[in-house]
Amino acid sequence: MNILLLGVQGSGKGTQAKRIADEYGLAHVSTGDMLRGAVAEGTELGRRVQPILERGELVPDELMIELIRERLGAEDTAPGFVLDGFPRTTPQAQALDTMLAEIDRPLSVVFELQVPDDVATERLQRRAELEGRTDDTPEAIRKRIDLYHQQTEPLVAHYRLAGNLVGIHGGRSENEVFAEIQQALDQVPSR
Ligand code: AMP
Repeated sequence: MNILLLGVQGSGKGTQAKRIADEYGLAHVSTGDMLRGAVAEGTELGRRVQPILERGELVPDELMIELIRERLGAEDTAPGFVLDGFPRTTPQAQALDTMLAEIDRPLSVVFELQVPDDVATERLQRRAELEGRTDDTPEAIRKRIDLYHQQTEPLVAHYRLAGNLVGIHGGRSENEVFAEIQQALDQVPSR
């Protein structure tokens, strides 16, 4: 099974992606985690993207597309993957469509975790207090939510047209959201 999660930061996307990956034995592919890892390790990529992450802006498409192409070629994605944080723009989605068609690994389902902006903002502010993520400043939070609406939300229509979009009400508890995701996954034909 190959799964894609869409949703604004603070929608619970990362948490749900991890749970799905654990439960179904899939690789969790989080571009945010990959980039934060690169920053923490101080690699060249990390040095390049650090200021972008801190401002809450988007890393250039070409860089992200290469990163994902490499990641999806790794052995652990063979049973399937849960994509979390990619694609975030139309060029990224188009590149992903082409990439997955080439390797004959289509997306089984695309979940859109829907939460109102005020709920997402509140959750991100709470996370800022708990974890002190450097991109959880009020300005960066606002920027990321704006960018989600401008750049990423149009992808919902793209996947709705492709016919595999499932909307999930993400404002509930983690367990309730996961139960709904599981119900939807039970309907996905295995191939
Ligand atoms: P996330 O953990 O998914 O919220 O991502 C954290 C940050 O990494 C984002 O605010 C962006 O700066 C960057 N990032 C992650 N994924 C992408 C992507 N697909 N395209 C551009 N930037 C990204």
